[in-house]
Amino acid sequence: MSTALGNHILVEFMNCDPHIMNDVAAIEKDMVAAAQKAGATVINSTFHHFSPYGVSGVVVIQESHLAIHTWPEYGYAAVDLFTCGEMDAWISFDWLKEAFGAKSYSALEMKRGSVKLLQRNDFDMTSMRQKASEWSNPDFYTRNVWFTDKDDMQALSLRFTGEVFYDVQSPFQRVRIIESYKYGKMLALDDMVMTTIQDEFHYHEMISHPAMFTHGNAKNILVIGGGDGGSIREILRHEGVEKVTMVEIDGEVIKACKEFLPEIANSFDHPKLELLVDDGIEFIKNAKPESYDIIIVDGSDPVGPAEGLFSVEFYTNCYNALKKDGIMLAQGESPKFNEKAFTELNHTLQGIFGENKAPISLFFVPTYPTGMWCFQYGIKGDKHPKYVTNEAEIDAFSEANGLRYYNADVHKGSFATPNFVKTLLNKEICQTSTRTV
Ligand code: SAM
Repeated sequence: MSTALGNHILVEFMNCDPHIMNDVAAIEKDMVAAAQKAGATVINSTFHHFSPYGVSGVVVIQESHLAIHTWPEYGYAAVDLFTCGEMDAWISFDWLKEAFGAKSYSALEMKRGSVKLLQRNDFDMTSMRQKASEWSNPDFYTRNVWFTDKDDMQALSLRFTGEVFYDVQSPFQRVRIIESYKYGKMLALDDMVMTTIQDEFHYHEMISHPAMFTHGNAKNILVIGGGDGGSIREILRHEGVEKVTMVEIDGEVIKACKEFLPEIANSFDHPKLELLVDDGIEFIKNAKPESYDIIIVDGSDPVGPAEGLFSVEFYTNCYNALKKDGIMLAQGESPKFNEKAFTELNHTLQGIFGENKAPISLFFVPTYPTGMWCFQYGIKGDKHPKYVTNEAEIDAFSEANGLRYYNADVHKGSFATPNFVKTLLNKEICQTSTRTV
């Protein structure tokens, strides 16, 4: 007769592989396997990935629980193996030590619930036994694996299936295709949500059609970034287009999306497309002056390879590469997330294109933090997106192409600027108006 109700092993796994320590899907799988190896019955698993790094999770078993929190930056994992009954948790310990590549560890075992100190209460066991039998299917357990995209103050968490379809560390970023229950498969770069099957059309219809209808006769278009292929898919719906040049820095993004997001990445073989795997910042530096009708900067957040896509020099080069009546727009962050980047970008564009020549188009993307996102424009000539007159043509195109977000009202509405955004932009202007090209 065991002298204690439970057995608790507190483990410090050290010098583990930092990549594994940051991989929520791998850790969830290893922790569940560690329980099953020791003969436990898994009830459910709940795991969370924190950005920029770290994983927290628990596997609830009929015999109690296994829990973990990781510090990838130290190659360290704090693990709790709490079991009752005959289960030998040291089997789980051995499994995890291997799985995490722990080069050193310490473990403290303690008995929990000494029967000498406890008094048993009488209650009806049958209902309990009934419930336990429901959990006797070892393969059935609910998985709760969460992916979190956050900054210091706010976060967006998506529950995902734990399935990882693509996971490559490219020279520029970590490229992953994972699957969320609500939004389907999605592309994540360095743990930031880039696009999902269920809401990508919000972004891709708004990055392309407003500019196309504002220009009215765009033939030569440059896309910088856009590796998922959604922007070119939408632009190439316009028959009048003669050539689209796409400059994406990371071939791994294109490869991953072509294979696992074919609904988005289905225009890479289009005859009007010239695809270059290159740095857009270098490309635009050497671009021929006045050669593009529209330039679209479909870049990621201002970190890593995309940092330079928010600079004065980059947008000055874009300005020079635009034809006299050209239009440029860029992924512009959000007035509610990364306000600094949002505001600074608009001042840069106003400084280069002119004070009233840098309008903002606001729209909603549920899987971006806060859901409120924007494109920021640079108008070189007089073709201003706020003053479109071809509504009927827009709605006819929207219907004919089965668009799910964009239409004439949405076009106009997106350029309506809420007062708090005007205040945000005005507040900064007085400080930075000295910055000129
Ligand atoms: N919708 C996304 C967003 O709002 O963040 C952007 C999607 S798209 C996938 C962003 C692309 O920009 C990525 O494929 C990334 O590799 C690419 N990119 C980043 N920096 C770049 C650069 N300097 N030149 C060209 N492409 C770049």
